[in-house]
Amino acid sequence: MAPKEKAIISKCMLGYRCRYDGKSKPLPPEVIKKIEEKFELIPFCPEEVALPTPRPPARFIGDKIVDIYGVDKTPQFLQGAREAVKLAKEKGAVAFIGKEKSPSCGINLTSAYINGSECKCKAKGLTSRLMEENGIKLISEWEFYPPER
Ligand code: SF4
Repeated sequence: MAPKEKAIISKCMLGYRCRYDGKSKPLPPEVIKKIEEKFELIPFCPEEVALPTPRPPARFIGDKIVDIYGVDKTPQFLQGAREAVKLAKEKGAVAFIGKEKSPSCGINLTSAYINGSECKCKAKGLTSRLMEENGIKLISEWEFYPPER
């Protein structure tokens, strides 16, 4: 049997407690099993590279990523995104399986602050954007676990 292709996956979806609130957002075990049938998974959290856990939630304001206290965290998010791409290249990963609505890992939706309101907008997170620019295929968690349940 041919070896499976490798994919970087948002670590919080595998049960790691790396989210801004110190919690995880695990996919059901049967969904993880389905993903693992296709890919050899490499768990990674880009926000843990340069930020603590827990940390204040952050979202896009224009091209910057700013936390809820108004602190510009774009450099830290960018550092994490670059590390994610570096890891993907080192490991020969062909895909990035991302957690939706995250300012780092969102594939279809990301967190934003627009016209004075918090919202989820149709855009990619920073890590996802950088992955795509580097030829890594983006796969939403929703391809395996659709939101309409
Ligand atoms: S940055 Fe990505 S991997 Fe880390 S907690 Fe947020 S969604 Fe999960």
